Amino acid sequence: MLLEVRDLHVEFHTREGIAKAVNGVSYAVDAGETLAVLGESGSGKSVTAQAIMGILDVPPGRISGGEVLFKGRDLLKLKEEERRRVRGAEMAMIFQDALSSLNPVLSVGQQLGEMFTVHRGMSRKDARAKAVELMDRVRIPAAKERVNQYPHQFSGGMRQRIMIAMALALEPSLIIADEPTTALDVTVQAQVMDLLAELRRELDMGLILITHDLGVVADVADRIAVMYAGRIVETAPVHDIYKAPAHPYTRGLLDSIPRLDQKGQDLYAIRGLPPNLLNIPPGCAFHPRCPRARDVCTTDEPPLYEVSAARRSACHFWRETLDDVDG
Ligand code: SF4
Ligand code: MG
Repeated sequence: MLLEVRDLHVEFHTREGIAKAVNGVSYAVDAGETLAVLGESGSGKSVTAQAIMGILDVPPGRISGGEVLFKGRDLLKLKEEERRRVRGAEMAMIFQDALSSLNPVLSVGQQLGEMFTVHRGMSRKDARAKAVELMDRVRIPAAKERVNQYPHQFSGGMRQRIMIAMALALEPSLIIADEPTTALDVTVQAQVMDLLAELRRELDMGLILITHDLGVVADVADRIAVMYAGRIVETAPVHDIYKAPAHPYTRGLLDSIPRLDQKGQDLYAIRGLPPNLLNIPPGCAFHPRCPRARDVCTTDEPPLYEVSAARRSACHFWRETLDDVDG
């Protein structure tokens, strides 16, 4: 296994108390595989990624338990210097906002080239050639002519491709993309997703795709892990999820995807808001919003039940949820 997160816990110490951002998350991704991590904002999906990358803002964030095994080594036990080396060369992250991640006063070629001069000791001329090669690789047209342009001279979708090129530069074995297409319009979103999926296959990388939008991952993910209030509530192969969710929260996310045949109708939205992490509801954290909740849900926290060999659901009533294909 390329990456295995085991029972990860992250807390944020605030003036109001301890916010439990990640409460025992376990997931794994292998080379050549795409794991989509899904959830609303505040579900802990980005914080988990930051803990994996070792870029969690500390303080107030603190990893209070668990392991992050990367190629068998626990990253949480490495010294900061070793950690930095792994982060630079073996894993890379792509963020939502390319414009604020790129340096506005350096040309795209300079920024891409720096990856090779700084990390690989290449000459500037060779680094420039590498930059053009990377721009070709992420299908930026006329790369040779555009390599001297600045980030603001590219469209949002092209800038996101440049971010992908930066992430690919040192040929990492793992890429974590946090809402990589959220700022783009729908057609461009699909193109960037397809590109990511294609490169992942070509380079046999592991890809963790973090998103709040179940609609964008259908064609690119192998597995999905759905997070709620800092926990995984359902994990399954992507096709199982689309066929029939085994958790009411996943069902809600699925029903909120806009569909072509529902044009003009109001979009379904899960009622209520995600919980305050300083004060997570007892029992099943989703119970105040769950259309299926019963008494036991307010007192007994559901474990991750085994639905099938490749599938888990943290719902006491996963059987009924699964059978109830019409919602
Ligand atoms: Fe809903 Fe209860 Fe299942 Fe939680 S355990 S998702 S409240 S039915
Ligand atoms: Mg986020």
